[in-house]
Amino acid sequence: MTDQMYKKLGISESVRNHGERVLKSLEERFRKIDETAEYNQLKVLSAMQDNRVSEACLHPSTGYGYNDLGRDTLERVYASVFHTEDALVRPLIACGTHALAVALSGNLRPGDELLSPVGKPYDTLEEVIGIRPSTGSLAEYGVTYRQVELLPDGNFDYEAIRSAVNKKTRMVTIQRSKGYQTRKTLSVKQIGELIRFLHEINPELICMVDNCYGEFVEELEPSDAGADLVVGSLIKNPGGGLAPSGGYIAGKKKYVERAAFRLTSPGLGKEVGASLQTNPAFYQGLFLAPTVTAAALKGAVFAANLFEGYGFDIVPDGKESRHDIIQAITFGCPEGVIAFCRGIQAAAPVDSFVTPEPWAMPGYDADVIMAAGAFVQGSSIELSADGPIKPPYSVFFQGGLTWPHAKCGILMAFQKIVDAGLITV
Ligand SMILES: *Cc1c(COP(=O)(O)O)cnc(C)c1O
Repeated sequence: MTDQMYKKLGISESVRNHGERVLKSLEERFRKIDETAEYNQLKVLSAMQDNRVSEACLHPSTGYGYNDLGRDTLERVYASVFHTEDALVRPLIACGTHALAVALSGNLRPGDELLSPVGKPYDTLEEVIGIRPSTGSLAEYGVTYRQVELLPDGNFDYEAIRSAVNKKTRMVTIQRSKGYQTRKTLSVKQIGELIRFLHEINPELICMVDNCYGEFVEELEPSDAGADLVVGSLIKNPGGGLAPSGGYIAGKKKYVERAAFRLTSPGLGKEVGASLQTNPAFYQGLFLAPTVTAAALKGAVFAANLFEGYGFDIVPDGKESRHDIIQAITFGCPEGVIAFCRGIQAAAPVDSFVTPEPWAMPGYDADVIMAAGAFVQGSSIELSADGPIKPPYSVFFQGGLTWPHAKCGILMAFQKIVDAGLITV
């Protein structure tokens, strides 16, 4: 019956057989992913029990949101999960960029300097920091910025970092995921070593980790390895696909508090901010997040192995250990990127009938093609892919709320590549 369903969806027998062959070699990898999910599930469950999550926590609040039991308890649950003193988890945080901007601008003051010791940050942060001039950037408020590149082998340039830290350096931003770059994603262990080095230079440095796409991929989070703040988006891993919007900032109490005074208002901080109707989805999404992340991770590992051996550049490769859910495949031609995205779109539960086309997008210097048939707009914990139509013609993809869906989407993408005549199985 499953065979017939794949056939109906347009996946040929030879593509399906190739997929099954690849899967046989991944049993041990998948078992490890399941073990991590098991630990993280128990971690989330304990956090909910320890903080006495009750039915009353699922009720909505309105207006000022004073005494919002669900919101306040959820923030304690996040603090327990990340092993931090405090957390800010709000639907009012519009996206990951907003969460990072709030954490930065809440904790930096005129005359302070921000350091990125891991090279260029995520594109949207360039405008937050003012690397690219932008209205309201940190640069406009007199916050300076310094950046130290990674060494060619991907390791930290400790000597250059030591000389970059100066009397003005107040905060450090460390991006865990590679984002849309070709460098490797940082493991929690590597991040821990970097933070230990920085805190030896100055224990007062606020080390913030952009944790986007990294949550629940490992058993430890950067906050277990010394980060003063961890920040992320709820329409990625920790929202479990159910959160309709939002972001989180978890860490030391004084730094989370300063972020809260920036998010709402000086004097108000965490006391206000109605959760509206979001509490049930935030709780349930967090509860599902460990297994949803595991599904996405299996999809990424499956894709890397499925596409390996056809001459494409695969990052990370089929064997490498994973520290985020992103997979990049470089096709070397626009047809590959387009066919891949059309496959992902064709396998979506929403808008499966539309055909993605490369198009000019604000902030990009080339046409971009995007595939996303998501229940939540732009949600990238749901199966999604995009790529700029320029050399080296790479597609970046991530997500999958369930492993069977991730598998189906990747087989569909593979099928479209076969149909486009780029490979034969
Ligand atoms: C997604 C992401 C962000 C934030 O992006 P939004 O689209 O604003 O949510 C920041 N950093 C990294 C590494 C990301 O992956």
